[in-house]
Amino acid sequence: MSQDVDSRQYDHPARGTLFIVSAPSGAGKTSLVRALVERVERLGVSVSHTTRNMRPGEVDGVNYHFVSEAEFEAMIGRGEFFEHAWVFDRHYGTSRPEVEKRLAAGEDVILEIDWQGARQVREQMPEAVSIFILPPSRAALRERLSNRGQDTPDIIERRMRDAVSEMIHYDEYDALIINDDFAIAVDELEHLIRAERTRLTRVRAQHGPLLAELLSADEPDR
Ligand code: 5GP
Repeated sequence: MSQDVDSRQYDHPARGTLFIVSAPSGAGKTSLVRALVERVERLGVSVSHTTRNMRPGEVDGVNYHFVSEAEFEAMIGRGEFFEHAWVFDRHYGTSRPEVEKRLAAGEDVILEIDWQGARQVREQMPEAVSIFILPPSRAALRERLSNRGQDTPDIIERRMRDAVSEMIHYDEYDALIINDDFAIAVDELEHLIRAERTRLTRVRAQHGPLLAELLSADEPDR
């Protein structure tokens, strides 16, 4: 057998993979990710910090860690953010210790962040897999952005412009999903995650003892 199985490679559990998911608001990203983590084991979503106000129905520590500008600035000063950005006039950021701890424990972690954060993550972790989600049409996007209450046309136009300024970065990502049929889009996300888990380096690290056992018997030359 030519494959060299070195047991020292398996001293540590396989590190998880980091997935970045970006989308303009109105593309259905949060619902897709929620459905995805219910289906896929050992997959979690990082809870970001933000200085924006809590919306009705949101829970501190679940949707976001809601913090003041002063707290956010202090965290930047202490180098606690893996990435952070100014999005729609507010600060958003990903805590480095939270993500590191989960990856080290072998969990795959999703960051739901904007294109600016995605760039910072790629620079530090080029092996991260990035996915962009698009709405099926401009009309569908406009409808989703106007379904959120009694907004004035000006506000809806502003949201459309914000959406376009996020979408123009789609080609910086590894994968692109068009959220036309929700069930298909969740399937596509699931396939991306599971395909990453079958990479040789990952399976080797995860299943070292199995490989060692399978290859230990006397084998005929090949
Ligand atoms: P919302 O306030 O509607 O929940 O999110 C607004 C935008 O902020 C979304 O585009 C979302 O991807 C982005 N965002 C949320 N958390 C983070 C984060 O931790 N870092 C960065 N860079 N963007 C984030």
